[in-house]
Amino acid sequence: MQDVHEIVLGDVTVARVEEMHGPIMPADQFFPDLPEQAWKDHRDTLVPDHLGAEDAMVITAMQTWVVRSAGRTILIDTGVGNDKTRPVAESWDHLSLDYLGNLARAGVRPEDVDLVINTHLHLDHIGWNTRLVDGDWVPAFPNATYLMPKVDVDYWNPANNPNIVGGINENAFEDSIAPVLAAGQVQLWETSHAIDANLRLETAPGHTPGASVVMLASGGDRALFAGDIMHTPLQVTHPDHSSCFDLDPDQSRTTRLRLLGWAADNNALMLPAHFSGHSALEVVNTGSGFAIKQWGPLPRY
Ligand SMILES: [Zn+2]
Repeated sequence: MQDVHEIVLGDVTVARVEEMHGPIMPADQFFPDLPEQAWKDHRDTLVPDHLGAEDAMVITAMQTWVVRSAGRTILIDTGVGNDKTRPVAESWDHLSLDYLGNLARAGVRPEDVDLVINTHLHLDHIGWNTRLVDGDWVPAFPNATYLMPKVDVDYWNPANNPNIVGGINENAFEDSIAPVLAAGQVQLWETSHAIDANLRLETAPGHTPGASVVMLASGGDRALFAGDIMHTPLQVTHPDHSSCFDLDPDQSRTTRLRLLGWAADNNALMLPAHFSGHSALEVVNTGSGFAIKQWGPLPRY
């Protein structure tokens, strides 16, 4: 059933299934090198969907893009997940949210999912890769192939990188990646990967070493599932500023400027992972930076 919750891009439909949204961090801590005044200057654009009116907290969403393309049901990013032990990220510790109910309202049962794409392997993009069944983590989408960037699979494996323990992704490899690898459901990719005639994965490093985006080209339509190249619409007008979550801020800036430029040049709809509110947007190149052209209408499930 086509309804107002879906947008059509060429031969592809896109819906947004939200896990949650809300305040995540005080604005003055979000960018190490951007004065708080920048948030105040763009208050009219940012409040209430991206910035709290009273408390100046940055507001973000955790959400999945449900993409139907070439006969397949595809999920892009899987949120934080339920029941996960997250000692460093306390607000995401042992969640119990009705994400699967939201997915069902979008017409997707777990067994219907053909492909899961993790744009990168931070804990808030892989959570619903698995769910807890009788004390074991099992793939939440039993019939799906999971596409993961090989660079991130290597990087976030504590066996390769002992610093993971005690960091933000503590336990995430063990509960959200390893069980899918063990089930034989992971397909690793590097550099670029053609998903089908409409969609392809491209590397977009900086936020994490293996971070990626999904580019859509179908008919005359173009779109960019932008992952975490940006975390707030303030980075459209201030694209030089990388958030405190970016592991390589300089590389993140280069990637963000390149992809904002591509989106502006191609009239592409941008769908960043964490933008709340209308969530999808078109941008224009102003010569000295970028500006929001318009928000795409994409209500949440
Ligand atoms: Zn993220």
